Order: sequence, then structure tokens, then C-alpha cells
Amino acid sequence: MRVAVLGGGVSGLAAAYYLLRNRDRAPDLRVDVYERAPRLGGVVETYVADGAIIERGPDAFFAKGDAIFAVLRELGLEDDLVVQNPEAGPTYVCRRGRLLPLPPGTEMGVPRRLIPLIRTPLLSPAGKLRAALDLVLPPLQAPGDVSVGEFFRRRFGEEVVEALIEPLVGTVYGAEADILSLDTLFPTYRELERRYRSVLLGLRRSARTSPQGRPRPAGQAPGAGKFVTLRSGLEELVRRLARELPSDAVHLRTGVDALTWEDGLWKLTLSTGKTVSASVVVSTLPAWELARLLRGMGREDGAALLEEIPYSSTANIAFRFAASPIPGFPGAAILVPPRERRVVSSVSFTSRKWPHTVPPGESLVRVFVDRRSVERYSTDAEIREAVEEDLVRLFGNPLPPVRFALVSRFERSLALYTVGHKERLARIRAYFANFGLPLVVRGAVFTGVGIPDCLTGGERAAEEVLEYLTVSARRP
Ligand SMILES: Cc1cc2nc3c(=O)[nH]c(=O)nc-3n(C[C@H](O)[C@H](O)[C@H](O)COP(=O)(O)OP(=O)(O)OC[C@H]3O[C@@H](n4cnc5c(N)ncnc54)[C@H](O)[C@@H]3O)c2cc1C
Repeated sequence: MRVAVLGGGVSGLAAAYYLLRNRDRAPDLRVDVYERAPRLGGVVETYVADGAIIERGPDAFFAKGDAIFAVLRELGLEDDLVVQNPEAGPTYVCRRGRLLPLPPGTEMGVPRRLIPLIRTPLLSPAGKLRAALDLVLPPLQAPGDVSVGEFFRRRFGEEVVEALIEPLVGTVYGAEADILSLDTLFPTYRELERRYRSVLLGLRRSARTSPQGRPRPAGQAPGAGKFVTLRSGLEELVRRLARELPSDAVHLRTGVDALTWEDGLWKLTLSTGKTVSASVVVSTLPAWELARLLRGMGREDGAALLEEIPYSSTANIAFRFAASPIPGFPGAAILVPPRERRVVSSVSFTSRKWPHTVPPGESLVRVFVDRRSVERYSTDAEIREAVEEDLVRLFGNPLPPVRFALVSRFERSLALYTVGHKERLARIRAYFANFGLPLVVRGAVFTGVGIPDCLTGGERAAEEVLEYLTVSARRP
């Protein structure tokens, strides 16, 4: 009973971990994790040097639900958890070159209350009046998904989209509001509009009946419902998951180049030149990579479905400064909307949010590069020079001495949730439900991108595999 897990990121490691944790249900189980890179972790990578902890990929996650705390406890990581500094300061938006705070009472840039909207200098008087029209405009009854930009432009007007929503969704989801899917990113707003006519009225009425704002139930972990990270870096999660696996279960520098099904078993052609077999395959690969393997099997239809999910590349630079780059600036982050046409798409004042990441007095800042610039600059030196020039303009002063800078690039790493995404995923799920061979498909794009989602996705994959193995063991 060999299970081959493709990919050694958080999703793949979680699948292997949960499989082995439940091996009493399949005593002959053997799990192998195949990872093309020379290290485990996928996009989770922490660089630790000289008293600094620098995340190259994710730097925190939103701790929702109990499952995440259960796994952290099992891995002995509960005491390593750190909650984001509540005094880190507000988020700022760069609007026509000026840095202005995001008004309170917004969620992912979507206004939830009218008063802060009326007070914000981010909108012109005409923009504010237009936003208030949400209270009276009729709902749109058209069926099907629409873009985030289209929906909120209709409710609140162009300025709200430009100044509030696009900076947030653009930064988090890596694309313009006009191509991102409302049904995927904001599934409840359509319903609010349909039921209450207005988003603002709907939010106010539904808040009365929602559990938000009620005190935390007794016994809940301190980081529950907050952004948290690990004091020693998120890669510690990767190390702890890997530590639970037998040493011969992990195969680094071992890409899976081809998959075939022969005589009731999977055959995996590895980049090392070897061929191995497995009863079940769990794929945690990006959609485009799984598509390549399916195409090799002659499953053109499945490959074409997977290739409908677009991916973009991302890059960020971590700067370790000897002092704050904007003395006196009270913010935790600056968002730069794509319309500002800059190299930088956002700046995270990491050491304000996570003071443990550098020694006192120093400043750690992570700068995320706009999608178009990621493609424009091919070398790390070019990208760093362009970012530094842009930061000087953005901050309005020369940069303090840079103690260290680390450029991180992730090729085709971010799945874009474009209009129709939910429906596309449903078609992909239906395709694999009827695939006819023991292939379990997980990974960020199918389970949700957050680290807790990837852990839960791995757990569900393990459950599916164990059920399959139990049923097949019973067959004569
Ligand atoms: C820059 C960035 C910042 C992020 N920030 C956050 C954040 O702050 N909070 C948060 O919760 N989430 C964040 N995310 C999302 C989150 O980190 C990811 O969704 C999650 O780590 C993905 O894990 P995964 O195992 O599904 O995929 P991956 O980490 O992509 O792992 C897939 C693995 O498969 C391997 N592979 C590919 N092809 C093959 C092959 N043919 N054979 C064998 N191996 C192969 C790859 O080398 C890789 O290691 C961020 C993501 C990025 C890129």
C-alpha cells in the first residue's frame, strides 16, 4: 500500500503527516513524498541570519477554526505562536502620490459603515456622494459571477473601487479588481444586495444577528481569529511536519516527470531516472503542473480544464534597515493601487507587526513588486534598483542604510481567482470525482491558499486515501 504524495509544500507534508498519524487504519501503508526542489516547504521559506527572521513567502496566517490549533499543539508549536502586534498601526493607501490612512470600518477595502467613508480624505466630495448612493440603488438581478470591480463600482462608484478596494484585493490576490471573481472573494455581498437592496444596509442589519463582536468563548486559544506567526519562522512548521515522517519517506530533488496507470498501479517516472509504483497518488501540485502530467497520460480534457486557471508570478524584497525608513510614520503597511503605475505594489512594515523579527532599533520592511514589474525586470539587481528608486519617491526621503536585502521570486505561484473561478473549480472537482483512478487532488488552488486551509486540505486528502485503501483491502 504505497501512497505517493506529489509536492513537499505545506499541503503535501500535511497529507503525508495525517496519513502516517492514522496508519493504524492501514498497517501496510508506506508514504513517499516527491519534491522537485532541493528543500521542503514550497513557497514557505524562512531566512534566519544575524538576529533577523525574514520570511520569503508567507509571513503569517489567519488563525480561524480549532483545527489549526490542534495541529500546532500536536507538533509542539503552540508556545512558538506569536499574535500580530495590535499597536502596529493602520494601513495606508498611496493615492496620487500621497499616503493616506485607510478609513476604519472597511473589510478588504469594502466599506462597512458610512461615517468613516464620509470622513476619509481618500475620496473626493463627489466620490463620497456617489458611495452613499448604495443606500438607494436597486439590486442587479443578473445571474452568474461578476468581477469585484464591476459589482462594487455599481454599488459605490469608481472612486471607492480605485482608492479602497483595488489596493487591497490587488495586493492580496495579485490582480486588478476588474478581473477578480466576486463569488469567490466576496461570496456574501451578492446575497446582501439581493436581500437588503443595499450593501451598507445589509451589513448593518445582518450585524445585529451575527456572532461578530461577541466576546470570545471561554477556552479558545489566544490567537484565535487573529493573524499569527511562529516566533522561529514559518518554516518551523515545515520542519516539524517533516520530523514526523520516516527519513526515507522524503525524496528531495526528485520531480515527478510522468504518470501512467499500468496493471492496477500507478507508475511514476522520476527526474532521477528511476520509475516507482504506487497504489494511490495525492497531487498537491499547482494546476498547470498537474495539467502537464495529465496531458502525458492522454487526459487532454482534464489538462485543458486545469489550464483554465491562470497563475501569476510574484516577487518581494525584504530590506533590513538600520533605522525606520520613514521616521515617525505610524503605519503598518502601504498599499499602492495598480493605477499609480509604480514598481511597488505594497510595503509591509514587518517589524512593526512582528517586533521579534529584528533586534530593537532596526527595521524590517517587505516590499512587494507590482505584477507588471515582476515580468519587466529579469535580474535581482535590476529589480532591487527599481524598487529602491520607487521607495525614495513613495517615502519622500532617502532610504536609511540598508543592512541587508533579500530578493525572493516565485514563478507562477499565485493562482488568480478570475471571474467564473467557482464554476471552473466545480467542473474540475466533478472531473476528478469521475476520474476512475485513485488520484486525490489537493493543494492551495483547490483548498484555499491560507496555510490553515492547506493543512486541512492535507488532512482531508489523507482521509480520502485511507477510506479508499480500507475499501480496496476488503475487496476479494
Ligand atoms: C509570496 C507569497 C506570499 C504568501 N503569503 C501568505 C500569507 O501571508 N499567509 C498565508 O496563509 N498564505 C500565504 N501565501 C499562500 C500560501 O503560502 C500557499 O498557499 C501555501 O504555502 C501553498 O502550499 P502548497 O503545498 O499547496 O503549494 P507549494 O508551496 O507551491 O508546494 C508545491 C510543491 O510542489 C513542488 N513541485 C512542483 N512540481 C513538481 C513535480 N512535478 N514533482 C515534484 N514536486 C513538484 C514544488 O517544488 C513545491 O515545493 C503566500 C504565497 C506566496 C507565493
